[in-house]
Amino acid sequence: MATTKDKDGKPQRRTLIKASDTKIMRHIKIKGEANPFDPAQESYFESRLGWKMDNNLKGKTKLLRLWWRQDKECPHCQEKITKETGWNIHHILPKAQGGKDNISNLMLLHPNCHRQIHSQKLEVVKPAPVKGGLDEA
Ligand SMILES: [Zn+2]
Repeated sequence: MATTKDKDGKPQRRTLIKASDTKIMRHIKIKGEANPFDPAQESYFESRLGWKMDNNLKGKTKLLRLWWRQDKECPHCQEKITKETGWNIHHILPKAQGGKDNISNLMLLHPNCHRQIHSQKLEVVKPAPVKGGLDEA
């Protein structure tokens, strides 16, 4: 708290905002040359999308639904995806080929599996959709 005077000279109590109250939000900036139709930049856009989704409620809900749809597993190695392993967003149909950011075109992969898939241009088996119309967002 800090005390200041108002225009009539009466003391006023004010709460100072501490720097530690402000949450640090690291933005991933679009690089000047970034082009969503360039296959080489697919993982760059995927990490940006993942970051965006993790930072708003609607996106977080989508992530959670993806995770449940995959039975919390990575479709590449069939191991569980946890907070500890971390995750990456992967487009089933790459953006470079017209793939959208719809939940039906997304899956979660371990960061390492994701790197392997992109560097070796592997196909990932699409997880079976869960019954109950969860597929479109
Ligand atoms: Zn994996």
